[in-house]
Amino acid sequence: MQRLRSTLDRIDRKGYGAYKDLQGSYDLREFDLFVDRVQRDPFAPPSLVRVRTKDNRFDLDLSENPVRRVAFEDFLTRSVEKALRRAVKGNRGSGGSGRIEIQRTSQVVLPRSSVVVESNFVEARLALGLPARGRTVDARTAQTMLFEELPRVVREALTPAGVDAEAARAHVEVVEDADHLRKRLPTLGLVAFVADGAVLPRESGASDRPLREDAVPFESPEEFRVTVELPNRGEVSGMGITEGVTLVAGGGFHGKSTLLSALAWGVYDHAPGDGRELVVARANAVKVRAEDGRSVAGVDISGMIGDLPGRRDTTSFSTTNASGSTSQAANIAEALEIGTSLLLVDEDTSATNFMIRDERMRELVSKEPISPFIDLVRPLRDSLGVSTVVVVGGVGDYLDVADRVILMEDYGLQDATARAHEVRERFPARVPPKSGAASRPRGRRVRASSIDLRRGRRETARGRGPYTIELGREQVNLSNLEQLAEAGQTEAIARIIGEFAAGNASREVQAVVNGALGSVRENGLDSLGNFRGHPGELSLPRAQEVAAAINRIRSLEAAAGA
Ligand code: ADP
Ligand code: MG
Repeated sequence: MQRLRSTLDRIDRKGYGAYKDLQGSYDLREFDLFVDRVQRDPFAPPSLVRVRTKDNRFDLDLSENPVRRVAFEDFLTRSVEKALRRAVKGNRGSGGSGRIEIQRTSQVVLPRSSVVVESNFVEARLALGLPARGRTVDARTAQTMLFEELPRVVREALTPAGVDAEAARAHVEVVEDADHLRKRLPTLGLVAFVADGAVLPRESGASDRPLREDAVPFESPEEFRVTVELPNRGEVSGMGITEGVTLVAGGGFHGKSTLLSALAWGVYDHAPGDGRELVVARANAVKVRAEDGRSVAGVDISGMIGDLPGRRDTTSFSTTNASGSTSQAANIAEALEIGTSLLLVDEDTSATNFMIRDERMRELVSKEPISPFIDLVRPLRDSLGVSTVVVVGGVGDYLDVADRVILMEDYGLQDATARAHEVRERFPARVPPKSGAASRPRGRRVRASSIDLRRGRRETARGRGPYTIELGREQVNLSNLEQLAEAGQTEAIARIIGEFAAGNASREVQAVVNGALGSVRENGLDSLGNFRGHPGELSLPRAQEVAAAINRIRSLEAAAGA
C-alpha cells in the first residue's frame, strides 16, 4: 500500500504517461490489486485492473459444481455492478477519468471473465479510467479511487458481509433448476418447456427486460401440461413442446412471436426476475430467418434449392448477396452443419417464397428452384431427427405437416390440434406437401488464409459491441443473429476467429468451432485473453453463434470437404 501511495505521490501532475509506473501488483490489506494494463492517455480505452480477496468465505456450496459456480460468478458480477454504481463518483476530469466499470451483463447467465471464484479467493476484473487533469496525472483522485472506492466495492460485493446471502442462494438455485430442466428435455421427449406463470413479453423492442405492467402470465393448455421435478424448486408445471412439428397459429399481435422468441432465448439460463427463468429449449436450438444481402461461402443448400439461373451449383453455393430465400436456406443448412435438434421459424422474418408456393404460382412459374420449407419440415424430422416450431398466421397449408397446433388468442394458448384436423378435412390443400427424405448438407472446409486480419500495420480481430466483429478491414455484421446475447460473446468469437485466421489451416467449420470451444472448456475463457492477467471482457458463446459469425465473413472461401 505504501509503495502504491509513494508512486502516486511521485507521478502527481506529471505527464499522463507516468501512470505506466503503476503497472504491477499491490497488497492493499483487505485485498490484492493487480494493475495489468495502463492506458496511454485519458481518452484511450480504460486501464485494466483486478481486485482479489485474500480468501473465499462464501458458502462453498454456492460454487460446488460448474453450473453453480457460473451462476454464483454471474451473481457477483451483478453485485459488483450495483456496488460500483453506489461507490464510484464517475466522470472526473478529461476523457474517461474516474470511471470504474465491470463487464455489462444481459438478462442471461453465462460463463464470463468478469468474476472468478476460486476456493481461496474471489476476483473481479475491472476497467478503470485513470484520472487526468488535462493530460497530466491526477493522483489525488486516483487515491480516492484506489483507496476508498475500490475497497468499498470489495466489501460490498465480494465478501459475505456485504452480499445478500439469500439472494445469492436464490440466484444459484434458479439457474441450477433451469439447467437441470434443459438437460432433462431429451429424456422427456421434449424440445422445449414453458413454465406456468412465466412472463414472456419484453419491455420494448429495444429492451430485453420483462414487461412490467399488463403482462399476461403464461398458462399452458391442459393438453400440453407436464409436471417436472426440479432439484431446488420441486414440482413445476408448464407446457411441454414435444419432438416433431409444432405449429403456432393465431391472429396478428396475439403473442406468437413473443412465445417463439422466448423459446429462442431458452437456450440460455436467465437471471432471477427475468420472467423466463423456467423457459427452456434444447441447448442447440437455432432460430432461422431470412437475411437477404448476407454472403454465403460454399454451402450445400441443394436440399432446398436446385438449378439456379446460370447453372449455379447449389451443393456448394456461394454469393456475396443472397436473396431472402437463399439466405434462409443457407441459414438452415449451416444450422444443420454445426448441429441442431430444433429449428425455430417465424413467418414474420421468413421469405414467403421459401415458406410456401401455392397452386397458381406452380402453374404460372415453371422455373422455380426452391422447394418450399413446408416440404422439408417432415423429412427433417423423419430423416434427421430435427424438430421445428413454426409460427404462422397466414399460411394454412402448414396444418398438413403439423403434429400439433397451438392457437394463440389474447396471449392465451389453446390446443387446436383436433380443430386443425377438422379444418384440413373440410378444406384439403390443393397441393399436398411432398414427402421424401432429407439429407445432411455436404461438409465443407473453410480456408484460414481467406481471412485477412491486417489493418495498416496491425492485425485485428475484435468485437465492436454485440453485433459487429472487426477482422482487419472487414466488419462482419451479426445483427441478424437473434440468439447472440451480449458483447462479451462477440468478443470471444472474434478472438476464436482471430486464432483460426492466424494459422493457415483449411478445416470444416464444426471442427474449427468445436476445437476452439473444447479448448475453452478445458482452459477457461481466460485462455482467449491477449496477455497474462486481465483477459478483457469475455462471455461464452454457443457453437451455433461462433459458426454463424464465421459463415458471415465476406471474404471467406470454402471448398468441399470430408
Ligand atoms: P404476433 O407475433 O402474434 O403478431 P407479438 O408476439 O409480436 O404478436 O406480440 C404483440 C404485442 O403483444 C407485443 O408488443 C408484445 O410485447 C405483447 N405481448 C405478447 N405477449 C404478451 C403477454 N403475455 N402479455 C402482455 N403483452 C404481450
Ligand atoms: Mg409476429
